[in-house]
Amino acid sequence: MYKYKEASGKRYILSVANHTEIGTALAAFCREKDIRSGVVGGIAAISQATFRFLDPATKKYVDKTFDEQMEITCLAGNISRKDGEPYLHLHVTASRRDYTCIGGHLLSARVNGACELYVEDYGLDGIGRRFDPETGLNLYDF
Ligand code: FE
Repeated sequence: MYKYKEASGKRYILSVANHTEIGTALAAFCREKDIRSGVVGGIAAISQATFRFLDPATKKYVDKTFDEQMEITCLAGNISRKDGEPYLHLHVTASRRDYTCIGGHLLSARVNGACELYVEDYGLDGIGRRFDPETGLNLYDF
């Protein structure tokens, strides 16, 4: 699903295998390395992605799937835990064939080409998530 190389200080270089869903691979890596909190960044080529938009007025999620080849020009996010499981909060910007960009909160993305990520383990426990009724978001709980 991925291969990785460890750099100094709990930092990792990750190469996610072709045709793999990025979030699934990243969650598996967090379980393997027992990463409870951290930061992630990267780039990728993908053939499908589902983005999420939270409407603050209605507090309802609007999800949209794009079935096309795109370049993730920037993936940025963080790692925490919720109910004992890795909780990934990922945002992306992706460029299309016509060089315009779309993006949002990333629900899923399938690699079609390469996916090269950077993960840094904060080495901190107790970075959780708690639902906040005011915003409708699972905010950091620490
Ligand atoms: Fe988000």
